[in-house]
Amino acid sequence: MKEVKIEKCPFCGGVELVESNVSTMTGAVSVSANSTTRIAVLFATVCRDCGSVVRLFCKTPENLYPKKERRE
Ligand SMILES: [Zn+2]
Repeated sequence: MKEVKIEKCPFCGGVELVESNVSTMTGAVSVSANSTTRIAVLFATVCRDCGSVVRLFCKTPENLYPKKERRE
């Protein structure tokens, strides 16, 4: 997985960004294919100054699609 470096909030310019687990009842991405359901937990990068969610991402995208079946 490629690393994404976020230096500052694109909304307010704040530099204090917190990475946190998105914990809601549906705080995960799931993909169903060939009767197999794959799940990856969602994480969010939140600006501590304005509260904007700068990025929403999964740390284990390979859980959703193994590389050999990845869609182009
Ligand atoms: Zn901000």
